[in-house]
Amino acid sequence: MNYKISHRAASLAPSLTLAIDSKAKAMKAAGEDVVGFGAGEPDFDTPQHIKDAAAKALAAGFTKYTPSSGIPELREAIAAKFQRENGLTYKPSQIIVSCGGKHSCYNVILATCEAGDEVIIPAPYWLSYPEMVKLAGAKPVIIRTTDKTEFKVTPAQLRAAITPNTRLFVLNSPSNPTGSVYTPEETKALGDICVEKNVLIMSDEIYEHLLYDGAKVKSVASFSPAHYDHTIIVHGLAKAYSMTGWRLGFLAAPEPIAKAIDAVQSHSTSNPTSFAQKGGVAALNGPQDHLPVWLAEYDKRRRYAHAKLNAMPGITCVNAKGAFYLFPNISKTGLKSAEFCAKLLEQEKVAAVPGIAFGADDYIRLSYATSLANIEKGLDRMDRFVRTLVK
Ligand SMILES: *Cc1c(COP(=O)(O)O)cnc(C)c1O
Repeated sequence: MNYKISHRAASLAPSLTLAIDSKAKAMKAAGEDVVGFGAGEPDFDTPQHIKDAAAKALAAGFTKYTPSSGIPELREAIAAKFQRENGLTYKPSQIIVSCGGKHSCYNVILATCEAGDEVIIPAPYWLSYPEMVKLAGAKPVIIRTTDKTEFKVTPAQLRAAITPNTRLFVLNSPSNPTGSVYTPEETKALGDICVEKNVLIMSDEIYEHLLYDGAKVKSVASFSPAHYDHTIIVHGLAKAYSMTGWRLGFLAAPEPIAKAIDAVQSHSTSNPTSFAQKGGVAALNGPQDHLPVWLAEYDKRRRYAHAKLNAMPGITCVNAKGAFYLFPNISKTGLKSAEFCAKLLEQEKVAAVPGIAFGADDYIRLSYATSLANIEKGLDRMDRFVRTLVK
């Protein structure tokens, strides 16, 4: 049988992250002592009061369809979060709850982009953005950045990438995979250009609360009513509340865009899981005291890993100001990222993600959402590996 695969699906790049991950898992299952730096999720458990709220809803029979954009109680809790933490006023009708922040991104791109449209994505990028743009039939336009600018796009680069076909600019700060964070001034400068050129901004703020070294963020929507009108904020509960498996994300958008996304979602996934949404309400409205504890732990690991990486011959690593990733430069080892990661896994049983998956072949991504003991062990092994490549 000659199966016809749609153009849309055939155009997608297979996931390198998953390839490395499945190899590492297979090695682990075979009893090998693998140290994993691949995780894109917190290693902490979901706080108990959030689990309790969902369990209570489940036990009480809250198990039916909900409104496709989410229960009113959760949309109100999200609107209250934007008011309280960001000074942004959204009506619940401007808020859509989806099956994860990833799903929110997909909805935004599908509802706003089509053939002939260009979407500007700074590299290193979260690997799903360009693939989502391709699924919508639009064209990803990549702006390259390096560690010399802490992986941040300059206003001049953004201006030069905009054409009459530019529909959307994707901003992700703090960033996955680099951990870099735009200052409020830098964010405003990029937003100003989008307002001037009438380009929409998809601002992925899922790591908003994971900040170090006193770094501050300000949502691009918050600089003026014009910035607000040009911005769709994508967010979720996965990272700050360790709820990756719950599949709960949300977005806030100008009313006509929210309406279009509501229609898209109503014909694809319908609502996010009913009782999970009750957990979401507890997360946003409940105590937030788990976060400083987690941040102190992440920070300790980040400092250790950053110092250890820079002490390796041929490795340089700018320090991340947010999220839970470091993105060291491996170019002086003479290996490209996929070969580096394959050999590191084979020879030292350390799993990391090659930078090429994020559009940056001179780097690898290490997640420090794993214990300090694991980080010590894994980086000792990586140090030994690098010393076989660089004298
Ligand atoms: C983790 C992540 C998301 C959303 O993840 P979900 O599990 O789908 O909520 C969105 N953007 C970035 C950059 C991420 O790293």
